[in-house]
Amino acid sequence: EVDLTDLLRRLIEMLALKAKQANVRVESDWPDDLPPVRGDADQLFQVFQNLLDNAIKYGAKGERVLVRVSRKERRRVSVDIVDFGPGIPREHIPRLTERFYRVDAARSRELGGTGLGLAIVKHIVNRHRGRLNVTSEIGRGSTFSVTLPLIESIQESQDSAEMPAA
Ligand code: ATP
Ligand code: MG
Repeated sequence: EVDLTDLLRRLIEMLALKAKQANVRVESDWPDDLPPVRGDADQLFQVFQNLLDNAIKYGAKGERVLVRVSRKERRRVSVDIVDFGPGIPREHIPRLTERFYRVDAARSRELGGTGLGLAIVKHIVNRHRGRLNVTSEIGRGSTFSVTLPLIESIQESQDSAEMPAA
């Protein structure tokens, strides 16, 4: 069981210095009664670390980055990492999770990194039966959303699978 709120709090704390150096303010918004998700805490930490690292790195300096958690249809939770940076051209979006894929090679070289972050995100999210969704608008920013099943929903689907029809 993973307490997402606790995980995200630790992550934001860990990246506080990096955010400060980039002159980015990380804001969080989540319900205080969030149920746990099933999964590996270290792997999920890695997912949100990669996404928040990107948002700080590629987002606009002097702007905010939002970490927002909300429940979806009672059974799922969505974690959205929102930046107000340059955005990502539409044609690149389907390829972002390929290994070593960078949108702007020159800019990426300058910022460092290997181009593996989102490939790892995709891999871990899939293993958790989750989804990664990217929306972006040029000149406005990008939102990376990870949707994960809540424990109670997994329990429910197991119950209904095992329960013989009356
Ligand atoms: P690494 O994560 O391995 O340090 P990286 O950040 O370049 O390197 P990914 O995290 O996989 O690699 O991201 C792939 C590319 O997608 C980046 O190089 C960048 O061009 C683009 N990208 C990712 N996140 C954003 C974002 N929030 N805004 C704009 N571009 C982004
Ligand atoms: Mg990255």
